[in-house]
Amino acid sequence: MSSKTYDAIIIGAGIVGAACAAECARAGMNVAIIEGGIVGGGATAAGMGHLVVMDDSEAQFALTRYSQQLWDEISDELPRDVEHDACGTIWIAADDEEIAEARRKEKFYADRGVKTEMLDEHALAEAEPNLRPGLVGGLRVPGDSVIYPPCAAQYFVDQTTAKGASLFLGVAVEAITADGVLLRDGTSISAGVVVNSAGSSSPALTRGLEVKKRKGHLVITDRYPNFIRHQLVELGYLKSAHTLTAESVAFNIQPRKTGQLLIGSSRQFGVDDARVDTPILTRMLERAVEYLPGLGKLSSLRTWTGFRAATPDKLPLIGPHTEPGRLYLATGHEGLGITTSLATAKLLVAQIMNRETAIPITPYLPVRMAQEPVHA
Ligand SMILES: Cc1cc2nc3c(=O)[nH]c(=O)nc-3n(C[C@H](O)[C@H](O)[C@H](O)COP(=O)(O)OP(=O)(O)OC[C@H]3O[C@@H](n4cnc5c(N)ncnc54)[C@H](O)[C@@H]3O)c2cc1C
Repeated sequence: MSSKTYDAIIIGAGIVGAACAAECARAGMNVAIIEGGIVGGGATAAGMGHLVVMDDSEAQFALTRYSQQLWDEISDELPRDVEHDACGTIWIAADDEEIAEARRKEKFYADRGVKTEMLDEHALAEAEPNLRPGLVGGLRVPGDSVIYPPCAAQYFVDQTTAKGASLFLGVAVEAITADGVLLRDGTSISAGVVVNSAGSSSPALTRGLEVKKRKGHLVITDRYPNFIRHQLVELGYLKSAHTLTAESVAFNIQPRKTGQLLIGSSRQFGVDDARVDTPILTRMLERAVEYLPGLGKLSSLRTWTGFRAATPDKLPLIGPHTEPGRLYLATGHEGLGITTSLATAKLLVAQIMNRETAIPITPYLPVRMAQEPVHA
């Protein structure tokens, strides 16, 4: 069975695919979105929704900063259910090594025009009275914010279909073909461009992709308004988030607009099983209670897991696949895909349309993987 032809087929309606679809439609393309499950039901539903500027590398900074600016530009138009909250981040320093790291971060951001504020022990306690005493200080980044990602993905899909796009829901792509895709129900759909934005499932559709699953756990509590006011992240988080081999947990907690607290997070490689892993979860919660002792008295409502799509160099793959043809990639966003979805969409469409990109594209091009070492 075969059907009509599109300018672009977007595989996956997570936040990345949804943002790419909306940008393609905005550029005048006739788009088909194909989602095997529900809109925003993959890592997008599992993630924390922290829109955060990061400084692990110049390329990571450029992408997160650019994308955060794009989120700021649309913040007024986002529907209420996206729950955009400009709460800011506090990076918490527990010892002298971490306060030195906070100062390094402060300088890095200041040199690149990002506003921050160093907090000493007293200022930190004043900003977040439920933190344990004895912490050394922190770095406040007021421009960071929080959203509820599945509703943002739905918003971008709605924008796309409002421009005439076709949405195929609940039917998965079986294979990417020479002129489009073959669906599991036997339908063939052709298009000028096919975008693999299937998140951690992207390697199942494109052989040889250097994308691995990195499992994470989250816990959400009942409503405790003002228990915390900022997204709080331990500076030790950087050590755990950037180790590619280890199983790790780090204190990372978010105030939701509902008054709930979203507690993270863990990172595990080599685990395909989505079930909650009690030992890891226990370590994660113990770590959170070390920072916020009062947390131990609150009730949690639900725990879940999700899979980040990790690349060896911790940067996403955005652009044409290395083999000549019509396939483009928008995947491998690890723990930053909510933040970087909008920049990904702009960079992808600029390449499809042969336009200038707003930031240098080279660090994100899939072709770099031809020279990269494989995962440890
Ligand atoms: C615990 C955790 C916390 C996180 N916290 C943050 C955070 O605070 N901030 C941040 O920026 N990022 C965060 N992330 C990362 C973020 O969630 C992801 O990077 C982002 O959601 C990736 O979006 P995506 O669209 O690429 O993938 P997904 O959301 O996984 O979407 C892929 C879609 O493709 C569909 N699909 C797969 N295979 C097929 C197929 N064959 N045919 C059709 N459809 C298919 C799936 O059903 C899915 O809907 C977190 C992730 C986790 C796990």
